[in-house]
Amino acid sequence: MIPFNIPPFLGTETAYIKEAINNHKICGDGPFTKRCHQWLEEKTGTAKALLTTSCTHSLEMAALLLDIRPGDEVILPSFTFCSTADAFVLRGAKLVFVDIRPDTMNIDETKIEDAVTPKTKAIVPVHYAGVACEMDAIMAIARRHDLRVVEDAAQAVMSEYKGQALGTIGDYGCYSFHETKNYSMGEGGALLIKDPAKIEDAEILREKGTNRSVFLRGQIDKYTWVNHGSSYLPSDMNAAYLWAQLQEADKINGNRLASWQKYYNAFEALEKEGFVQRPVIPAECKQNAHMFYLKAKDLEERTALIAFLRENGVQAVFHYIPLHSAPAGLRFGRFHGEDVYTTREADRLLRLPMYYDLRSEDADKVIDAVTGFYKG
Ligand SMILES: *Cc1c(COP(=O)(O)O)cnc(C)c1O
Repeated sequence: MIPFNIPPFLGTETAYIKEAINNHKICGDGPFTKRCHQWLEEKTGTAKALLTTSCTHSLEMAALLLDIRPGDEVILPSFTFCSTADAFVLRGAKLVFVDIRPDTMNIDETKIEDAVTPKTKAIVPVHYAGVACEMDAIMAIARRHDLRVVEDAAQAVMSEYKGQALGTIGDYGCYSFHETKNYSMGEGGALLIKDPAKIEDAEILREKGTNRSVFLRGQIDKYTWVNHGSSYLPSDMNAAYLWAQLQEADKINGNRLASWQKYYNAFEALEKEGFVQRPVIPAECKQNAHMFYLKAKDLEERTALIAFLRENGVQAVFHYIPLHSAPAGLRFGRFHGEDVYTTREADRLLRLPMYYDLRSEDADKVIDAVTGFYKG
C-alpha cells in the first residue's frame, strides 16, 4: 500500500536528539529551539518566531494576544481544520463562516466585507494546501474596519504571496510542524509575530505568565509571574527533530515540488477530457507542494475513486467536513451568505499520497491507478 503520508525523516534527526539528551537540555528553549527560531526569523523576515507545542496552540496564543472576548465575532472559512475555530471558540467568540473560492479552496475575499459587523474583531484566512489567500484584499478590509488578521499558515511553511512569506502578512501567523506537515517535530508549531511591541507579551504568555525570557536574556535579575499564561513551549528534543529538516528545507521543498509537478503533468489529459480538475496556483502565489489533490465529479464518484485506489494499493483521503455543518460548528457559528462552493467543492476533493521522498515509481503507480479508474 502506498501510504497517504510518511513523516519527514532525513537521518540527522537521531543524532540531534541524542545531542539534546547529552546536553542535559531537554526542556523548552534550549539550543535547538533557538536555532529553529533564528531560522524561521531569517527565512520569513518576521519580527519574532516562537516554537510552540502545536499550530492549535499558536492559534490559541494569537486569540489570547488579541484579547478576543465572549461576544466577539471572527470571520473564517468553513472549509478548514477545527483548530482554526477552536482557538476563538475557547475565548467565547462567535464564528462567522464565509464561502470559499472554488479555484484555490481559500476564503473568498470578495465575500468577507459583507460579513463584518460592529462585533467583528478578526479575520482568520487559511492558506489551504500552502497556496496563499488573496492577502492584499484581506489586509485592505482589515484596515478599513480596524480588524486584526491571524493567518492559519499551518500548511504554508516556505510558501509566499507576492514575495512575502505566508504567516508574516497578518498580525500573527501560525505554522504547524505536525507529522503530516512538510516539516515536522511530531507535534509542534510556531507563532510568528509581526509587531515587535507584542513580542514580550507573547513570550510571557508562552512561559506560564512569567517574564522568564527577559530574565534569560539577562535584562532583569530575577523572573516573576506577571500575567496570565500557559505552557506553550515544546521540548528541545522535538526541536532537535525539526532542526534536522529546517537545515534541509530547500531540499525537502524541491523534492515535494517535483512530485507535485509530476502529478500535475500526468493528470493534464484527464482534466482536458473533463474527468477531473487539478489544483489552481494563482500567479502571485509561490506554493510549497504541501498537498496534491484532484477534484472528482461529485461525492459519489469520489467515494468510488477512493475505494478503487485502495483496492489498487493507493491510500487517498478526502478533506474537511465543512465546519458549519459539524455539531460544534452549528453551536458556535453561523454561515454568512450562501454556501455555494464550500460543501460542493469539499465533497469532490481527494488528496493523493504526497510526502518527502515519494518514490517516482510509487507516484507512477498512483497515476496509473487514477487513470485506470477513469479509463480502465
Ligand atoms: C494541521 C492544521 C492545523 C493544526 O495543526 P497542529 O499542529 O496539529 O495543531 C490547523 N489548521 C490547519 C489548516 C491545519 O492544516
